[in-house]
Amino acid sequence: MTKAIRIHANGGPEVMKWEDVPTPEAGPNEALIRHEAVGLNYIDVYFRSGLYKSPLPATIGMEGSGVVLALGSNVTDLAVGDRVAYAGGPIGAYATQRVIPADRLVKLPDEIDFKTGAAMMLQGLTAQYLLRRTYKVQAGQTILVHAAAGGVGLIMCQWAKYLGVNVIGVVSTADKADLARAHGADHVIVGNQDLPAEVKRITGGAMVPVVYDSVGKDTFNASLDCLAPLGMMVTFGNASGPVPPVDLGVLTAKGSLFVTRPTLATYTAKRADLVAGANELFDVVIKGAVKIRVNQTFPLSEAVAAHVALEGRLTTGSTVLIP
Ligand code: NDP
Repeated sequence: MTKAIRIHANGGPEVMKWEDVPTPEAGPNEALIRHEAVGLNYIDVYFRSGLYKSPLPATIGMEGSGVVLALGSNVTDLAVGDRVAYAGGPIGAYATQRVIPADRLVKLPDEIDFKTGAAMMLQGLTAQYLLRRTYKVQAGQTILVHAAAGGVGLIMCQWAKYLGVNVIGVVSTADKADLARAHGADHVIVGNQDLPAEVKRITGGAMVPVVYDSVGKDTFNASLDCLAPLGMMVTFGNASGPVPPVDLGVLTAKGSLFVTRPTLATYTAKRADLVAGANELFDVVIKGAVKIRVNQTFPLSEAVAAHVALEGRLTTGSTVLIP
């Protein structure tokens, strides 16, 4: 037997239970891994609450690092004992051991420890595709990043800075503002200020070519008003709830805007894209351009407390769960 956090119903953090589960066996194209660390992500909240659906009972979690314990007969590019990490589905990371399709794993470079590996894969690959593929930012541009002191946020601030881009971060507290500034945000908007008015003031009226909005319902409309004509609205998360249906005519009225609702799953569906994104991410982390801030660590058995902190906006940077 091994241990896992399982949910038997959707609901608040308390639905997560630390249980004995049978040790899984790797199928022909799978790997059995022992987790050294598991990444905590906001998407775990959506799967727990039921905003995103999965069959029950379920072991949630989409990110981890660890060691290969066994390999299916068709897997040739990994070896037992390899240090590996992953981000994305299928869910099942909140466990001491799990099986996973082997083509979802990447080898963790020696320079990157397990905790950092588990913290950086999902949030870092997200920052990579958002800044480099969804809207390819250019040096000299000024962009708007919501939840700038969060897991994805702190990585985006640093990565954008490294690319020569000016970041306007949005956060809820003065302490988070200091943190975002310390990680490359040039300007920070705190709390319930008039977002478009602040962006107008900071950009001298030009507004921004792209907004990266992971907050969702509460900020969608204000974010649209921060865009320059032909700007790109990247709505990539629902921390405040999902964005209701949008009248497309609004996009015309506000200046022929573009809107996309991307997910990491699409951007890493092809193995080549996953590997290319991971290599770019490893590169910026190893050279120190992007520092992964593991600001909270919880035992995996205390995932309930970790979710309470994440949803309560009490975390900054990344959080890992240790089996
Ligand atoms: P964060 O560490 O950023 O935590 C969420 C942050 O959102 C909070 O700290 C808080 O920052 C802010 N927030 C604003 N409104 C609320 C609210 N009503 N309730 C809770 N938090 C709120 O989490 P992650 O880095 O794990 O993820 C960030 C976002 O990116 C999430 O929305 C996630 O779903 C999304 N995401 C999307 C991906 C994709 O491919 N589409 C992939 C990865 C993440 P503050 O207090 O400063 O407002």
